[in-house]
Amino acid sequence: METNLKPHNTFGIQAQCKGIIRLYSEQDIFEFLLRQDSQYLVLGGGSNVLFRSDYDGFILKNEIKGIEIIDEDEKALLVKVGAGEIWHSLVMWSVGHNLWGLENLALIPGSVGAAPIQNIGAYGVEQNKCFHSLNAIDLEQGTTRTFYNEECNFGYRDSIFKQAEKGKFLITHVCYLLSKIPNPVLSYGDVASEVGSSTDRSEVIAEAVIRIRKNKLPNPAEIGNSGSFFKNPIISKEEFEPLQALYPGIAFYAAGAQVKLAAAWLIDQCGFKGIVDGNTGTYKKQALVIVNHGAATGKEIFAFAQKIQQAVKDRFGVVLEMEVNVV
Ligand SMILES: Cc1cc2nc3c(=O)[nH]c(=O)nc-3n(C[C@H](O)[C@H](O)[C@H](O)COP(=O)(O)OP(=O)(O)OC[C@H]3O[C@@H](n4cnc5c(N)ncnc54)[C@H](O)[C@@H]3O)c2cc1C
Repeated sequence: METNLKPHNTFGIQAQCKGIIRLYSEQDIFEFLLRQDSQYLVLGGGSNVLFRSDYDGFILKNEIKGIEIIDEDEKALLVKVGAGEIWHSLVMWSVGHNLWGLENLALIPGSVGAAPIQNIGAYGVEQNKCFHSLNAIDLEQGTTRTFYNEECNFGYRDSIFKQAEKGKFLITHVCYLLSKIPNPVLSYGDVASEVGSSTDRSEVIAEAVIRIRKNKLPNPAEIGNSGSFFKNPIISKEEFEPLQALYPGIAFYAAGAQVKLAAAWLIDQCGFKGIVDGNTGTYKKQALVIVNHGAATGKEIFAFAQKIQQAVKDRFGVVLEMEVNVV
């Protein structure tokens, strides 16, 4: 049985597990649960995990595929997608049918089943905008359950599956409600300037996002990484005001009654952008992305991430939370 985790995490970390079990159907999952006698971890594309060491258990690789239209009217279409589908393939399928909702999320690595876990987002859109529901298997009870949008507590890179229900469910299918009515989101400067004033084709936006992302972010096939390593910290206005007085150039966005700080700016100010630290470092074009220069271990990357957290804490008094799931 395959035990090498290196091809299964985009950091390209060398680590071992007891075995990688591919699950192609709900039946496969129930059969595994009946005979399992060891700990296990569900994995999609491994693009949001950091293995700090070998994993003393089995990896369950979700391979449930399929994109099925289950309802439709003149305005929208409800699609049920196997959790093992590649996220970007779903986005390209949707824009190929000129459906709206997912186009700003093109080229995010990983599987459909992982998208609700951290409520993936990019360029002014998060997946909960058109998330309808998901089907999951309760790994303790061996029962199935449907979660509707309002039950998932979606937030910024957050959901119930990262909080109270962490590790308890294996998501098998996700349903998205996609609009047939053009609704371009061009609030992000880069996307607006690539697209121009507007468009009635969602594909135009997806293509613009793909161009921007290819230019800005490292391709994990060439340099190991897990995208943004930290979340942008959200602080109160009371905490923000003295910070802004001290650092007038501080990069931030309004977040309702609170303020979201650009973690990349904080890290950059601490001198970490593009630095090389042993086998690890940050990407030259984006300080938020920690990279593996080839032979980094999970421990090394984790220690480097902690060094960044400490520097930001010491300088700005702000705590950077890791976005990546550390195993
Ligand atoms: C270059 C790059 C750019 C990125 N850009 C973005 C971005 O713009 N926006 C963004 O939000 N994210 C981004 N990411 C992070 C990543 O792509 C997303 O978090 C993605 O959803 C992870 O999918 P995955 O299948 O690889 O999940 P994995 O890394 O395999 O798993 C992530 C977590 O979800 C759990 N999980 C996975 N599948 C299931 C399932 N079926 N059921 C239950 N639990 C499951 C795992 O146990 C783990 O805790 C980026 C990553 C990279 C490498």
